[in-house]
Amino acid sequence: MKRPVFTLEQLKEIAEEYPTPFHLYDEKGIRENARRLHEAFAWNEGFKQYFAVKATPNPDIIRILREEGCGVDCSSMTELRLAEALDITGDEIMFSSNATPDEEFALARRLGAIINLDDITHIGALEKNGGLPDTVCCRYNPGGEFRIDNMIMGNPGEAKFGFTREQLTEGYRILMQKGVKRFGLHAFLASNVTDSEYYPRLAALLFETAVKLREETGAEIAFVNLSGGIGVPYRPKEPAPDIFRIGRGVKEAYDEIIRPSGMHPLAIYTELGRFMLAPYGYLVARAIREKHIHKDYIGLDASAANLLRPAMYGAYHHITVMGKEDAPHDHVYDVTGSLCESNDRFAVDRPLPRIDIGDLVVIHDTGAHGFAMGYNYNGKLRSAEVLLTEDGGTRLIRRAETERDYFATFDFTGLFGDVE
Ligand SMILES: *Cc1c(COP(=O)(O)O)cnc(C)c1O
Repeated sequence: MKRPVFTLEQLKEIAEEYPTPFHLYDEKGIRENARRLHEAFAWNEGFKQYFAVKATPNPDIIRILREEGCGVDCSSMTELRLAEALDITGDEIMFSSNATPDEEFALARRLGAIINLDDITHIGALEKNGGLPDTVCCRYNPGGEFRIDNMIMGNPGEAKFGFTREQLTEGYRILMQKGVKRFGLHAFLASNVTDSEYYPRLAALLFETAVKLREETGAEIAFVNLSGGIGVPYRPKEPAPDIFRIGRGVKEAYDEIIRPSGMHPLAIYTELGRFMLAPYGYLVARAIREKHIHKDYIGLDASAANLLRPAMYGAYHHITVMGKEDAPHDHVYDVTGSLCESNDRFAVDRPLPRIDIGDLVVIHDTGAHGFAMGYNYNGKLRSAEVLLTEDGGTRLIRRAETERDYFATFDFTGLFGDVE
């Protein structure tokens, strides 16, 4: 059973202070999960998790993860600025971007970030915008399909990211000629994988590639970056990935491939986003309308503008009607937002307890790629983000947008002929 970490009584109090809808994050859950990850990879001395900022770009969330030993993985100018604002610099930042603008390379260099190049042509761009650092990481795209036991996990051959295998060798050679001393190797081949074999298989592929690259070029390879991709069980009965099994699986591949190659010690980096945050965030909304036509609909005060995943990917997000956790789920609803968009539905044909107007409705697993993918369609304003602190209190970690924010980018001067 998927249950929120808070009770109806608690949530009622919280909702009195912060009007719905809002995203609510569970600090305790975030910290405990981060500790499990570090424990699972403690065997690797250089292990470092760089939180994929794009998943939940909030300074307080980043601060919590920093306290748990994580760096940040930035993908854009603004995310680099966010790191800078938090005094995060140097090798605490991984910069993994693609189609990278010149000014982003320049800022990443100025901050001393580790740069993960997406393409062989970016070598020249980086050289011109801040120069080549001593350490450079390259992103690998092996093409084809990425399978585990014949199940297609991802489709790198169709993905825009990374260097081909030949380009890796050539890229390393060029970088070495230009004075780069140490290398990293990165790949992101599948997303939201709950199969605990994903990281071990990816690690084996990267370890083998690293060994060959070193043989071909003589490059000193300092780290392998397994990137993101570990999934979470969005559905109640889905198995959760076992982070300790994942850690052991990567270690087995390491012992088999890296130790005999003479490349030990090699650091392992990760750039997890979803795994770090998704289960520890909730979108809290209220049922404000119901209608009964060809189907039964419940209308919430939240919409796809607060959580895009169901509309964009048809993603399942579990729903709890607060206080009715144990009531019979004998009603079948489409749970919708108010966007003028047919796909603005959090749930389709979902068996739920009877919902009454005013009920608090909690949408699970919105902690990553939730608020972050929000948008302003239909003039909807972005919601607040609230932290449920370890001591059971709450803190507003991002206020809700106001109409003033929405209007801030317009210039009304002269529009109504009333300029002085
Ligand atoms: C999105 C992204 C991540 C995080 O992915 P998750 O699936 O959230 O773990 C990590 N690295 C890169 C380069 C990404 O684009």
